[in-house]
Amino acid sequence: MFLTETRVVADDSEVMEAKNTIAARFYQLKSRHALIAKYLLRIGKRRDMKCWWCGHEYQTRDHVFKWCKRWKREQKRLWVDGQEGEDGYEGVEKVLKKPKISLPMSLIFAEEKCSQALMDFLFHTDVGRISRVVEEAENSNHEESSDGGV
Ligand SMILES: [Zn+2]
Repeated sequence: MFLTETRVVADDSEVMEAKNTIAARFYQLKSRHALIAKYLLRIGKRRDMKCWWCGHEYQTRDHVFKWCKRWKREQKRLWVDGQEGEDGYEGVEKVLKKPKISLPMSLIFAEEKCSQALMDFLFHTDVGRISRVVEEAENSNHEESSDGGV
């Protein structure tokens, strides 16, 4: 391991990598190909749409960004509070002047004024990131073939 020698450089590239990963998650979520149960079910990686954070029956993009109990604090910042400071932003509800319940995620992802708030949400959450739960589900799925139900 060369970790101690190249510590400063390594830290730098870790930051870069983190930023790239968030951008990648952003575009996956935008194009509906993210690691969300709804998509994983469609491609046969999971057997249901259950949310692995809160147990809700349907883990959709809408669910994780608006309602999932696991990310309440982050949702509040995304939709209502925004963030102060140099690279701050306004909450999406303020920017678009509507409550989140009447704002479809496709619209938020298409709206450039909201992308910083979304990126910050991704930075502070595990939404769209490979999780242990997904990996476990993948492993257990290898043992059975899908019955390709309706
Ligand atoms: Zn949830």
